[in-house]
Amino acid sequence: MESDEPKKDLKKAMGRGLLGRCPNCGRGKVFTGYLTVRDRCGDCDEPLSAYKTADLPAVFTILLVGVLLVPILWVGFAVFRPEPLVLFGYISVLTVLLTLVLLRLVKGANVGYLWAIDERDPGA
Ligand SMILES: [Zn+2]
Repeated sequence: MESDEPKKDLKKAMGRGLLGRCPNCGRGKVFTGYLTVRDRCGDCDEPLSAYKTADLPAVFTILLVGVLLVPILWVGFAVFRPEPLVLFGYISVLTVLLTLVLLRLVKGANVGYLWAIDERDPGA
């Protein structure tokens, strides 16, 4: 059984979400603050808060930060041979910065993904 609705472009929706833009129109913003999803798009009135991302952005961010930090830690230690506490300091700061940047990007892309597959929260 096929739906009569036009198929949504998954890549375009995730790209728009990644940039913090509405997956439907690409003009309105997804977030009101750092991670709070707007109730509705200010441009096309799409109900963005109906797409609940839950823990997926956090899980993906943890995976991405881990994958990115392991080679950085390895190369950083092998090439520069810093004192362990100095290396710990750099890695700690880098971990926090990467997490804060990636979490917002991943959450936006996740909202775009959920919009593209029309996976709304049934309670919303
Ligand atoms: Zn919109």
